[in-house]
Amino acid sequence: MEDYIARHKQITDIYQRKTHEVHFALYLVVQCRRKMYQRITKWSSQGYIFLLGKVQEEKLKPTAPSSSCDSRDNYDLARIVLMMSDQGRMASFIMEPCGRPQWRSERLDNLVATFRSAMHSARHQDMYNSNTCIEFHRLLVATLLSYGKALSTLHTALDGRREACKRVWFCGGLLKEIASSLMLRQHLKACVEWLDIPVNNMRNLESYQNYTGFPHHGCRDPNDDDPGRANDPEMSVDGSEDLDMVFLKWIRLQVIHRLSLDTISRTIGSPSNPTVHAPAEPPSITLLAVPYPIVPLPMEPWETTLQNLLNKYPGRAYSHEDVRDHIKKCVSPPYKSNQHAVFKKWRGAAHGHAINFTATGHCEVLLASLAKYSHDVSFEQIQGNPGLINVLQVMSDCCHLMLNNLTEMQNINQNVLAVSKRCCPVCWTLLAILEGLNDRFGVRGRHPTVCAVDLPPWLPLEALSQMVACFEEILKHQIFTMMMQKKKHHRRTSSGQSDSATSTGSHKDGDRVDGADWNEYDG
Ligand SMILES: [Zn+2]
Repeated sequence: MEDYIARHKQITDIYQRKTHEVHFALYLVVQCRRKMYQRITKWSSQGYIFLLGKVQEEKLKPTAPSSSCDSRDNYDLARIVLMMSDQGRMASFIMEPCGRPQWRSERLDNLVATFRSAMHSARHQDMYNSNTCIEFHRLLVATLLSYGKALSTLHTALDGRREACKRVWFCGGLLKEIASSLMLRQHLKACVEWLDIPVNNMRNLESYQNYTGFPHHGCRDPNDDDPGRANDPEMSVDGSEDLDMVFLKWIRLQVIHRLSLDTISRTIGSPSNPTVHAPAEPPSITLLAVPYPIVPLPMEPWETTLQNLLNKYPGRAYSHEDVRDHIKKCVSPPYKSNQHAVFKKWRGAAHGHAINFTATGHCEVLLASLAKYSHDVSFEQIQGNPGLINVLQVMSDCCHLMLNNLTEMQNINQNVLAVSKRCCPVCWTLLAILEGLNDRFGVRGRHPTVCAVDLPPWLPLEALSQMVACFEEILKHQIFTMMMQKKKHHRRTSSGQSDSATSTGSHKDGDRVDGADWNEYDG
């Protein structure tokens, strides 16, 4: 990546620069194909493709683009579609391998003619119309299917990897231009009445896979009452988003490596717009990756955690046995679909089953902790710390972070992280511990979903103790609220109030473990 940036900066010819970028994209395919494969063959991805396939193309009504698309055009899409059509690759790379025999002879005549006549005009918003909408829809679905199939072939290929890489590269290149185009935004708006969020149940998984023809259908969600929305962290949707935006986000996610390369290249290359100044010197970039933590690890039994916590703060109206018995009572009735999913997981734990800890490290806190502590770490200490020795220089494909002036480990002097998405509550807390409530390394926000995360292995004991203290405080508060609720409930039922309080009470307990009231514990 460093080499790429340095060289890209030196190329002044705009076409050579494009070629240089496109060739680097082939390297990305070779390096990141596993992640790309996982993303496109995930059950939810197959669901998104299936749902796009449900669109009744003859009923499509093209609409005018919204004002948020003002800066978008179809120029790059037109260029690649014309090139692939002229070279016969539209048929051999997209339409034939996509697995829809009815499109085998599809030549996208209207689309090609429109691109040819209007790509240099200013009226790109008119390109998506009643003549082109059906062909565009077929192009989109066929590209997604061919891309997924090419990645599946590459995943299992022992021979012919070179050819398979090339196919992924071509299909991915086309998909990237579709994802960046004005047409896709107009099209998804026109499709909205047929779109929905994929739902994880056995019947759906089979229909999804039947449609895509990918080698497997992804996992059946063991939590069968969850509509399947929560278990895809990359596509977390709560139902409030516009469906065309959800689909756009999902399509962009499939080609995020390519889109990021585009952004980096545009930022550091001499821009085509002469009024925008690229930095004089390419920024120095180092890419770090930390090996996956060794998981799963057995967790401390929850009764022990509870006992230790409550013994630390004596003098309460309830003992740890009271709390334990109450929790067991709450989780023992059969799981109801209106309860939070954690109740389902908790039942096993309440019956003495061991719970394992499975987590990954999160980039923002790994980098932040390096920025914070690397100044004080001597060479001898680095050598003695297997966690630090294992910091490898490879492509990071989970999130794109750039540290200003991160030239080497000992020379981090600007503590700003640019994170492409909001961080999780655990990282948010750790960032505050590392840098202070108001700074947090410039990370702009967090989402409310708590997920298992492995803290940086080199975190000093002091920071670790602060983290534990902070989360103990939250747990203590939650237990207190729960026990107060129980007491109120007890008083109400014993004074002869109606039974409806029972169900409301238990439902509320369920709500509280949701991330929704996390705001109370900010910092
Ligand atoms: Zn995190």
